[in-house]
Amino acid sequence: MTDPLRIGVLALQGDFALHARALARCGVEPVEVRKPAQLADVDGLVIPGGESTTLLHLLSTWEFVPALERFHAEGRPVFGTCAGLILLAREVTSPAQSSLALIDLAVERNAYGRQRESFEARGEAVLGGRRVPVEMVFIRAPRIRRVGPGVEVLARRDDEPVMARQGSVLVATFHPELTADVTVHAHFCEMVRRAREGRAAAGGPGDAGHERAELDPAARGGAA
Ligand code: GLN
Repeated sequence: MTDPLRIGVLALQGDFALHARALARCGVEPVEVRKPAQLADVDGLVIPGGESTTLLHLLSTWEFVPALERFHAEGRPVFGTCAGLILLAREVTSPAQSSLALIDLAVERNAYGRQRESFEARGEAVLGGRRVPVEMVFIRAPRIRRVGPGVEVLARRDDEPVMARQGSVLVATFHPELTADVTVHAHFCEMVRRAREGRAAAGGPGDAGHERAELDPAARGGAA
């Protein structure tokens, strides 16, 4: 019997509780992550919406950045929504801001203008080879202005990319946790399950690689 999937939700700021609820509805164990050391115990991580400037500040205060880079380098999936996407994108404008740069996208913050600060829409995603309708809630959302060659667009609204994936990094400009529809979270859970199977096949049972990185300072820091 394998352990249930444990998926962390970065719980520094923003609407992490609703993500935890959506993950629980998908049958995985959500874990609120407040310290970098907790990343060792989760198979994937959701970075929720909120205020990206504040989140960036909290990430650096709590020394999350090297731990997140290592988490990503180990192939553990990360899903960023809205401000979470802004933190993960390679390039951020309006205004420019530093980021983890784990997905090759350029995003413009607060890009829908004042008239449409928040709105709901229906878009279409292609997930696991199937076209599915997705309910989308946009709140002071960013827009994706450039998509790098290694990035796959998974959902569009009005022909504009709103959800994308590069390897183990999934992002959405909207808030799937604010709808009753768990399609997007279920897709992320599936990514996390496959990644865990891949790690187990490559490195045997458990998280030996992670423990090694934890114990051996020489194995740290080269992940970016
Ligand atoms: N406008 C916010 C930012 O730039 C993101 C909003 C959200 O996460 N809903 O950080």
